[in-house]
Amino acid sequence: MTVKGEATVVKHTGSHYLLSCLPQWDLFPAVLRGKIRLKGSSSTNPVAVGDKVSFEAELPGQNMLDSITPENPAVITAVHPRTNYLIRKSTNLSRQSHIIAANLDMAFIIATIDFPEIKLPFLDRILVTCEVYNIPVTIVLNKVDLYRETHAEMLEAFHNIYEGAGYNVMEVSALTGEGVAQLRDACKGRLSLFSGVSGVGKSSLIKAIDPNLDPRVGEISDAHLQGKHTTTFYEMYALASGGFIIDTPGLRGFGLVDLSKEEIALYFPEMHKVSQECRFSPCTHTHEPGCAVKAAVEEGLISYERYSSYLGMLDDEGKYR
Ligand code: GDP
Ligand code: ZN
Repeated sequence: MTVKGEATVVKHTGSHYLLSCLPQWDLFPAVLRGKIRLKGSSSTNPVAVGDKVSFEAELPGQNMLDSITPENPAVITAVHPRTNYLIRKSTNLSRQSHIIAANLDMAFIIATIDFPEIKLPFLDRILVTCEVYNIPVTIVLNKVDLYRETHAEMLEAFHNIYEGAGYNVMEVSALTGEGVAQLRDACKGRLSLFSGVSGVGKSSLIKAIDPNLDPRVGEISDAHLQGKHTTTFYEMYALASGGFIIDTPGLRGFGLVDLSKEEIALYFPEMHKVSQECRFSPCTHTHEPGCAVKAAVEEGLISYERYSSYLGMLDDEGKYR
């Protein structure tokens, strides 16, 4: 008999997908029916991890998802509308993009003040990207055991800058376990993206949240569920404590797509808020008289660091188009 259902894509390997009827974690293989193409989309993958899909399967009886095998996979018949998604532009010139993940409830951006030293303009680009894609962000400062004493002023300044801009900032240490319980709690009941440049301790942190997970290994143990293709894309993990995460290997590829000069400030929430008061509209917040953003920077209401990241992005805007 034909069984129909709805499920979430938890892994994508070549032309094969693994689905699960979340919040249950019971994976079964699926393939895409050839016809599915997102209208007007130039992405290389029409279905991404996090997508909610409708599927059909030919089964001996109802509720026998166990009998869905790679030889008799479910068929994805429709992709449901996304609340949001994150894309990465291809490095080649084809202008194609790859959807990293869809329907994210939030993103945890893992960073360190030192070891490795933080690059604020780079962090700000990530934050802008998350704003563009409508993904709420929490900044997680890891390794506080290493620099809380030695970099106390920088740590305080960091809180001022980013909390002032409206972001939530957590302090944690995967090593000592400080803050890990709070982070674990923050993951419950939602799908979160974990991202951070290499070396900030993202893998250690995921392992601290759930010792069953080892992002370095990053393999689903049921080898028979894997497709023949070895290219793995991003995948979802279930946390024993509740919630689901998607681990991304790095941040470099997060492209700022199609932002014009006038648009960039829309995604600096603290600038966007005051820009209604600018005398000119549109205003680039650089040379225009009566600019409320520049006034707010001078009064210390908007941090100089964030403003300077903004100017940097205006400058190399061309690189992102
Ligand atoms: P990833 O590249 O972001 O996944 O980083 P890893 O998890 O591999 O960690 C990079 C290095 O930082 C490793 O040597 C970890 O042992 C170390 N590390 C991770 N978290 C902490 C922490 O909270 N405190 C200290 N002192 N070291 C940490
Ligand atoms: Zn202005």
